[in-house]
Amino acid sequence: MLKHSIQINNIPIPVYSLNTLIIGSGAAALNAAVNLVEFGQENIAIVTDNWGGGTSNNAGSDKQTYYKLSLSGKIPDSPFEMAQDLFNGGCMHGDIALCEAQHSAQAFYHLVQLGVPFPHDKYGGYIGYKTDHDPRGRGTSAGPLTSHLMFEALARDVKRKNIPVLDKYEIIALLTDIKGDEKHVVGAIALNKKELDNENMGFTVFNAVNVILGTGGPAGMYKTSVYPESQTGSSGLAFQIGAIGHNLTESQFGLASINFRWNLSGSYQQVIPRYISTDQNGNDEREFLDDYFSDMSTLSTAIFLKGYEWPFDPRKVKDYGSSLIDILVYQETVRKGRRVFLDFTKNPSGNGKMQDFTPEVLNKEAYDYLKNSDALRETPIERLQKLNQPAIDLYKDHNIDITVEYLEIAVCAQHNNGGLKGNIWWESNIKHLFPIGEVNGTHGVYRPGGSALNAGQVGSLRAAMFISKRYNTDYLKSDDFINSTELQIKDTFEFAMKIINPDKTKRAPLSSTLYEIQERMTGYGAHIRNPAEIKQAVSEAWELYLNLKSGVSVHSAKELPQVFKVLDLCLTHAIYLEAISEYLEKNGKSRGSYLVLNPKGSKPCDELGYEWRFGLNEDDAFVNQKILEIHFDEYMKVQKNWVDVRSVPDDELWFEKVWKEYRDGEVIK
Ligand SMILES: Cc1cc2nc3c(=O)[nH]c(=O)nc-3n(C[C@H](O)[C@H](O)[C@H](O)COP(=O)(O)OP(=O)(O)OC[C@H]3O[C@@H](n4cnc5c(N)ncnc54)[C@H](O)[C@@H]3O)c2cc1C
Repeated sequence: MLKHSIQINNIPIPVYSLNTLIIGSGAAALNAAVNLVEFGQENIAIVTDNWGGGTSNNAGSDKQTYYKLSLSGKIPDSPFEMAQDLFNGGCMHGDIALCEAQHSAQAFYHLVQLGVPFPHDKYGGYIGYKTDHDPRGRGTSAGPLTSHLMFEALARDVKRKNIPVLDKYEIIALLTDIKGDEKHVVGAIALNKKELDNENMGFTVFNAVNVILGTGGPAGMYKTSVYPESQTGSSGLAFQIGAIGHNLTESQFGLASINFRWNLSGSYQQVIPRYISTDQNGNDEREFLDDYFSDMSTLSTAIFLKGYEWPFDPRKVKDYGSSLIDILVYQETVRKGRRVFLDFTKNPSGNGKMQDFTPEVLNKEAYDYLKNSDALRETPIERLQKLNQPAIDLYKDHNIDITVEYLEIAVCAQHNNGGLKGNIWWESNIKHLFPIGEVNGTHGVYRPGGSALNAGQVGSLRAAMFISKRYNTDYLKSDDFINSTELQIKDTFEFAMKIINPDKTKRAPLSSTLYEIQERMTGYGAHIRNPAEIKQAVSEAWELYLNLKSGVSVHSAKELPQVFKVLDLCLTHAIYLEAISEYLEKNGKSRGSYLVLNPKGSKPCDELGYEWRFGLNEDDAFVNQKILEIHFDEYMKVQKNWVDVRSVPDDELWFEKVWKEYRDGEVIK
């Protein structure tokens, strides 16, 4: 990596020149770096705002799942079938699904070789289990912290391979150039957070042939979220330069604890905890689910099923299904302004309306599960002690003792199925820009549990393959780079200078702006969506963005990273809400992990008010046949296009033909 400097407004700014800049240090970004080296690509670097931050290293769940081709036992499987199952989730392009399936074993064994402890039997069979939306038992897990173990293994390899890592650098803009009629990314601007006090405010420029964007999901825009706090996302960087986003309407939401962010799936629900709500001060305690369920058997079975059926799913609301609980928690917390907790110390009680909980009221599947696990114990916590003691220890490690205290919960954002669009090499419509991992939204409406981690590994592998074969050229000469990017660098630099205003009275508080973004997303862009309110939300989102851009001011350069972060999230939330609004305008109804309120629909149960009427999309609905793409055009106007979903390629494969194409270099292009 060559280092020199340029002068902007007579202030020196360092410039690093290299072949590939990898932004982020999650499992996807690290895998891209490691694979680039394995494919022989030199002159690369990882730039990250916070080594050790992000979702991969800090999130987990009861049994965090990795989805891969079946690789053991008698279960027949094939990449085509796996692709078809991914595709069947709806609104996922079939060629991308096929790539994720074809490379799944390769990416998985790569992690095994690097030391991720995925369990296997004495013959080397990597045993699997069925995860949600998975007909074949393709799920595997290295425990509650699978993605953390992946991060650790990949980080060790980054170190072994001596890949340069620039830590505490926040990328705040991508640099572009127009070549012919195509827009190319040619580098990026970062703030070196260790040198914000310098005359150049930490500004650092990268001159790169390729940029791999591994910045994760746009987690920071939600108020109730189970993403780790260190993950905020930076999708706005790409939207800003015209990158296309697709399926932005599709995210996953579910029940999680909020003081320590953790999914309440699996055994946390299978032991049938008590759900209670209180007022804001913790008074007026009520078992609010009792108002909606008429017998304890149905109520406790719905709680049990929540363990398997974790993400909110509008198809699982009716007939007192498990997702009715998410609606009721939302109603308590958002509509009624109360707080909701899980209590593991006592069984649910019927409060005189119905019988109190005893294990015998459970349906046969739930009862047998607890019995076979030797967990038919008196209280939820005793059952959990039998079923999964580490689940209790995990909270203890975060200073929450669920053996004696209540656990506060909410319906939280967890994952983005949509995101930036890429081709089969994960290259976006902006040439040389490769969004990988969660920032690249390969999945559509539903996805099998664990397929996010597979997609992150496969996408980063394929981006590295392509770059090392096709984009392995030298970076731009310094003069050419400056000619094409100087104005962009100057604009960003001058904006930063302009907004620093030591005068306290002129300060627009960033925290309240962030609060407004998060309130709006959780209120209008999360698992409950209302066509009657969405337009207003969109226009308020844009108003906030424009006001922020023109009016923001901070005391010192120390606050610049926060300014750019909030701007990024503000832009991103406006684009996401635009996508949701467009979907609703095309008569899109409930699907995936969200419910669309609809006065022409039906009430999910008698006990809920009429405001909760909704319907599901018909299979042949317009929105189910097409994918919504959205981007800024050259005039910064939002463009929306509905495109056909590409099916899974069904090419006749003939070895000699493929071999020749491979030898002729026809494959990677
Ligand atoms: C609670 C929870 C449970 C989950 N369980 C599963 C599961 O069981 N199976 C599954 O497949 N998936 C699961 N997921 C999803 C999966 O963990 C994530 O999709 C995946 O880890 C994302 O990896 P990534 O590499 O794309 O991004 P991340 O790991 O989020 O990394 C993003 C990186 O980018 C950096 N960054 C961001 N912006 C900038 C910037 N401007 N400049 C520099 N650096 C920047 C961040 O610091 C971070 O290092 C779960 C997610 C959550 C939250």
